[in-house]
Amino acid sequence: MSLYLVILGRQGSGKGTQCTRLVEHYGCPHVSTGDMLRAAREEGTEMGRKAGEIMDAGGLVPDEVMFGIVAERLAKPDVLKHGVLLDGFPRTAGQADELERMLAEHGERLDVAINLDVPVEEVTKRMLTRGREDDTPEAIAERLRLYEEQTAPLVEWFDGHGLLAVVDGLGEEDEVFHRLVATVDAKTRGASQGEPLPAADDDVVD
Ligand code: ADP
Repeated sequence: MSLYLVILGRQGSGKGTQCTRLVEHYGCPHVSTGDMLRAAREEGTEMGRKAGEIMDAGGLVPDEVMFGIVAERLAKPDVLKHGVLLDGFPRTAGQADELERMLAEHGERLDVAINLDVPVEEVTKRMLTRGREDDTPEAIAERLRLYEEQTAPLVEWFDGHGLLAVVDGLGEEDEVFHRLVATVDAKTRGASQGEPLPAADDDVVD
């Protein structure tokens, strides 16, 4: 069975660690657009160089570039066979619309979008104890504010499409992982049962 998952989470939410465990558990590839863009930059391709500049400036890489990269990746045999855990894409409601179209071309659709939820105060604490040079309280606050601003419409999009699952990211790593698995399993069991059929004798037209 192939799974189509999206994961969202603030920096410091533990998303990276949980992604590694999820793909091991479900056997689908982890597709991180941030990782793909960084790899392109390392390779020194024209696209990688341009994307690198945008990333450094804290901007979003243009949709036409992202759609090309993602469409190509989603057409690979491993994804077609096992599905995917998408991380970093979609980032906007427009990208979510496009993802829906791309998946439909393969006769697929998203199963669930997980928002791994760790409150701002907690991720701030985690980032401060990690102690990187650019992790000043002001820089952290600004990054989190930008994330919130960017992500709110996307969360709304998933919610509006009945795809959103908020998972509490506080607690032990194992505990959080089990919550994630329980959420994905519940969503995919529901999906495989399909929608209930409307009553045949229903003559109410609106
Ligand atoms: P973060 O460090 O915020 O977790 P990522 O590693 O997912 O971010 O991505 C790093 C950078 O790559 C982003 O800041 C952005 O410039 C670019 N990027 C990644 N995914 C996308 C996307 N879906 N649309 C536009 N730009 C993207």
